[in-house]
Amino acid sequence: MNKKPDFGRIALIGAGLIGGSLARVIRREKLAQTVIAYSRHPATRQRIRELGFVDSVAEDIPTAVANADLVIVSVPVGASGAVAQAMAAHLMPGTIVTDTGSVKQAVIDAVIPNLPNGVHFVPGHPIAGTENTGPDAGFDTLFEGRWCILTPPEGTSENAIATVTNIWKRAGSRVDRMSAAHHDMVLAITSHIPHLLAFNIVGTVAELEDQIKLEVVKYSAGGFRDFTRIAASDPEMWRDIFIENKDAVLEMLGRFSEDLAALQRAIRWDDADGLEAKFSQTRDLRQRVIEAKQA
Ligand code: NAP
Repeated sequence: MNKKPDFGRIALIGAGLIGGSLARVIRREKLAQTVIAYSRHPATRQRIRELGFVDSVAEDIPTAVANADLVIVSVPVGASGAVAQAMAAHLMPGTIVTDTGSVKQAVIDAVIPNLPNGVHFVPGHPIAGTENTGPDAGFDTLFEGRWCILTPPEGTSENAIATVTNIWKRAGSRVDRMSAAHHDMVLAITSHIPHLLAFNIVGTVAELEDQIKLEVVKYSAGGFRDFTRIAASDPEMWRDIFIENKDAVLEMLGRFSEDLAALQRAIRWDDADGLEAKFSQTRDLRQRVIEAKQA
């Protein structure tokens, strides 16, 4: 006997890499009777229709969220407040709203004041992604074996949290729960600073004179290539992440700069033992990442 879907109608606000991947999971797992996606641009809407991973596509947010019992917001974090404002008057009481933004406290601050009473907001962040964007970039195995962090503010309905947890489990993720402030600090060092380094090193090369630049590209397999992949990530999304997680990023950047100065000093003073000890420590950490199956 076919099991009844968990949801009548799911609305996706943003169906790019993350929203489009979740839509494919929702379809594979038969989680909803109908799924509708909203996108601002006619060309994106047309592409979503062609890819066929949702049942219909809406031209505006009110149409998308009308009668939805779950709304998944997957847009650049700086747009979260405006999206919440646009949907607020059209949400049914009891609707669950969740998001996938890479920064959590700023999203909570922007979304919650705009939502009517009786609507549950469960903020989330899948720790999975690629440097590609848009509806074509999504795939249904993106979240498999990855963590998804939920940061529900105190007082959030446990039922709503359990419902969102279940979606991520059906996507193949493991789910953790923590405060938004803690999430933002952890992600500043595990994701935001590494991206900043990549943007910076690739940016430095972009400023070099033409001949050296040609050689950097030619010999990029020496390490630079991996930074170029990360530095090709979506500019709008990353602009928002750094602005919305400013405090945690600046805190971690301060620590990073101190450690960089220590390495600089070790090189200047031929401190071979110090350098070797540091590089052994970092190699051990890589081993732990492999053992945690996050490599
Ligand atoms: P994406 O592929 O660029 O998709 C974003 C979607 O949002 C697009 O379909 C875009 O469609 C729509 N959009 C953009 N600006 C908007 C606005 N102002 N109002 C309404 N819709 C807007 O990006 P993504 O990688 O899926 O990222 C979505 C969210 O997930 C972000 O908050 C990001 O921080 C988070 N996240 C990303 C990753 C990653 O690795 N990429 C990983 C985890 C979490 P239109 O332009 O057609 O409207």
